[in-house]
Amino acid sequence: MQSSTLTQTLSFGLDIHSGSGDDLQRGCLEARRIRNETNRLDRHNRDWEDIKPVVVDNANHVKNTSQLIVEKALGELETYHDNKDEGWGRPYPYIDELYPIVMNHGEGYRLFLEDDNTVRFRITATRGTHVKGELCGSPDHFDRLQTAFNDDEWRVGRAEVVEKHDEWRLHVTVTHETHQVASKHDADTIVGVDVNEDCIALAAMRRDGDVKDSVVIEYPSVKEQRHEYFTTRKRMQTAGQTGFESVVQTEERDYVQDALHKVSRQVVEWVSQFSAPVVVFEDLKDMRDSIDYGTRMNRRLHSLPFAALQEMVSYKAAWNEIPADKVDPEYTCQRCPRTECHHTERGNRHKKRFKCRQCGFQDHADRKAAVCVVQEWLDEQYGNVPSLETLPRVWTVRRAASGAGGGPDSHGPSSGSGVHRHGTSARDSQSRAREELKSVASAVQD
Ligand SMILES: [Zn+2]
Repeated sequence: MQSSTLTQTLSFGLDIHSGSGDDLQRGCLEARRIRNETNRLDRHNRDWEDIKPVVVDNANHVKNTSQLIVEKALGELETYHDNKDEGWGRPYPYIDELYPIVMNHGEGYRLFLEDDNTVRFRITATRGTHVKGELCGSPDHFDRLQTAFNDDEWRVGRAEVVEKHDEWRLHVTVTHETHQVASKHDADTIVGVDVNEDCIALAAMRRDGDVKDSVVIEYPSVKEQRHEYFTTRKRMQTAGQTGFESVVQTEERDYVQDALHKVSRQVVEWVSQFSAPVVVFEDLKDMRDSIDYGTRMNRRLHSLPFAALQEMVSYKAAWNEIPADKVDPEYTCQRCPRTECHHTERGNRHKKRFKCRQCGFQDHADRKAAVCVVQEWLDEQYGNVPSLETLPRVWTVRRAASGAGGGPDSHGPSSGSGVHRHGTSARDSQSRAREELKSVASAVQD
């Protein structure tokens, strides 16, 4: 077992008993003023260290809360500076929607676990104004919250008051400082992951080289949507409509986040079916140098899903005590996976097809890359790669465009794992995959 820090955000509704939604609204308006003031001072090139005390001293929130709101606003500016080369617009200096009240437990808000397992809250909406009542939410989130109260290794952390769909909600983070995950050295099944802008490929291999199963989860809508938002944003920038920029950016972020969350859940579900798995990614730091990005536009579309998806999968895996690791990705997409060949050449790959120019081995290029990730890991860990016998069929699952609100999955909730769970609508891609694998089988048997 090894330790890592895990934080989860729990979402609760607020059943207000004393004080009112208007009080919370005033708190969010004050948070917005703090946020806008922070942006205004930043625009005037004020040093960030100087901005904090000035804004906090003049705010109508308790000091700790004001500090957190300034930090959140500065964090957004920092994200912009980190990503501006990728085409991200600057945060709009004056937003006119509500901004969350950000609070530390024991400072701006407090929760009380009652004997009957209900949870009362007390929120300082603005300085001296308290809103009290009872949390409502899913049993799952209440369970997590109770664990955070009762277990010494957990703590209740920061929370935000937000208004969503005309309802007041409290988003509470709970953190486990030393969450245990299995040791990667005890892994029986190594799951190689190949993340692409339009799909994620997984291959599960035993230590002896037996590939148990593999799947390609496609999400073409993420790529399309990102492209569309990017174009819209550019058009608005050209037209000088910077006021709408942040709206589009938020929509894009929400859409992509939502889609990636669903994909990452599916990935972890699939991984969980194997005994003692370890999830292995390509190391992104090395990847940026080795990938043929093509145009600058391509780079923009590329950069975010890679990192975000890896992060989400690692995180959800860790919740299930599954460890994750990384390997040097240098040749994973060009190398022939047949151990007696291992011929590495750029020309081996043509888009989604892999064909070894030396031995003729053929496969779905992304699934093959996932197999190579596993081989690379075994080589790095043990200096030994077992010979590749046969590869199973490639199963392709396509996620439908779900829209920003998150629509239904085209294949139902459990399309993530295995061969037999797909609906008939997956038949086309299945027969396509079967065709592909015929050639794989013959190449491997040669
Ligand atoms: Zn080969």
